[in-house]
Amino acid sequence: MTAIQEKTLAVKVRKDFPILHQTVHGKSLVYLDNAATSQKPIAVLDALRHYYEQDNANVHRGAHSLSVRATEAYEGARDKIAKFINAASRQEVIFTRNATEAINLVAYSWGLNNLKPGDEIITSVMEHHSNFVPWQMIAKQTGAVIKYVPLTKNEDFDLEGFKCLLSDKTKLVTIVHVSNTLGCINPVEEVIKLSHEKGVKVLIDACQSIPHMPIDVQEMDCDWLVASGHKMCGPSGVGFLYGKQAILEAMPPFLGGGEMINEVFFDGFTCGELPHKFEAGTPAIGEAIALGAAVDYLTEIGMDKIYAYEEELTAYLFRKLAEVPQIRIYGPQPSQDGKGRAALAAFNIEGIHGSDLSTLLDHEGVAIRSGHHCTQPLHRLFDASGSARVSLYFYNTYEEIDRFVMVLKETIDFFTNIMG
Ligand SMILES: *Cc1c(COP(=O)(O)O)cnc(C)c1O
Repeated sequence: MTAIQEKTLAVKVRKDFPILHQTVHGKSLVYLDNAATSQKPIAVLDALRHYYEQDNANVHRGAHSLSVRATEAYEGARDKIAKFINAASRQEVIFTRNATEAINLVAYSWGLNNLKPGDEIITSVMEHHSNFVPWQMIAKQTGAVIKYVPLTKNEDFDLEGFKCLLSDKTKLVTIVHVSNTLGCINPVEEVIKLSHEKGVKVLIDACQSIPHMPIDVQEMDCDWLVASGHKMCGPSGVGFLYGKQAILEAMPPFLGGGEMINEVFFDGFTCGELPHKFEAGTPAIGEAIALGAAVDYLTEIGMDKIYAYEEELTAYLFRKLAEVPQIRIYGPQPSQDGKGRAALAAFNIEGIHGSDLSTLLDHEGVAIRSGHHCTQPLHRLFDASGSARVSLYFYNTYEEIDRFVMVLKETIDFFTNIMG
């Protein structure tokens, strides 16, 4: 597909996102903070509204029609997600609040019960805090040790470094698929293959990959995979954990309460079957259903198409950023055609604080993020307290990249002038 056709695709989908058509400080909004959260298409908003207007009832207690409809829609959303990631069965998809809760589920259920003093967890220096802190908490309780995969000279995942860390002591590898700061796409298939050869389980943080590229968990062969609904056009308050059925079956429950039990007695309880064993309490029913609508929406456009278009945007973004003076972009360079890197760039401009940049850009209607992006350890490696980050999605256009880069250059000129 050519750039022109894809451009038409982005322009075509924008009508589906009401929020994009507004002005901020009198300027038309350019939303470039998609790695923090994506915007929601009308189909998702309609699904939420439809649920609360027509079907609202608690699930799995099918005493009346509304409850039956709510249950069917909620479980239907699970089927959609299972199909979207090509899970072997619907029992392998557990609804959680977000990716963070999904990682905590694995940390507390599997980690706490399987790790012993001296066992090693391998993660990488580029992880989101969500994939650091739960493991640090579990390591403290179990005596397990965390090892960090370093970066290559190009600020990419160091596969050779990973191979050096992998040993008979390794019990778990938990790494991000696409870094929310470096934008690198990590060689997860290779990591999983090498880990499995040693009998080591692997968790993949797919928060920044699932919204942007086709994911097939069976082909990838990961043991667990986590994602957040709000970054893939769904609502906040819902995410999911994928796990291989045999592994999930062997794991004890994480949270206890209603929904996750089979029978309860004064002196104990028996667990419900998968997936309910891990879904204690009333879930985010409407949000899960709306996430199902988001999956339908993405599927209809086609993840291949989204990925191909975002590669073109990446190539264009990096060509434009190359014109910006004194810019330091973190992470590897994409190839000429935008391959090998996600459509995002965390950067610093010498002498200008990231938060000043984002504030001034906001005055021009351009929304970018500044801060540590929940990757403080990584920023420390770069001797940076934070950075600014621009992150794109399939509804972003070339014109928006132009506006962003133009305003960024004007802002740098402004600072250069006042600093004389
Ligand atoms: C956003 C993100 C998370 C955490 O997602 P939550 O929705 O906050 O739970 C974890 N990892 C990566 C790479 C992310 O981008």
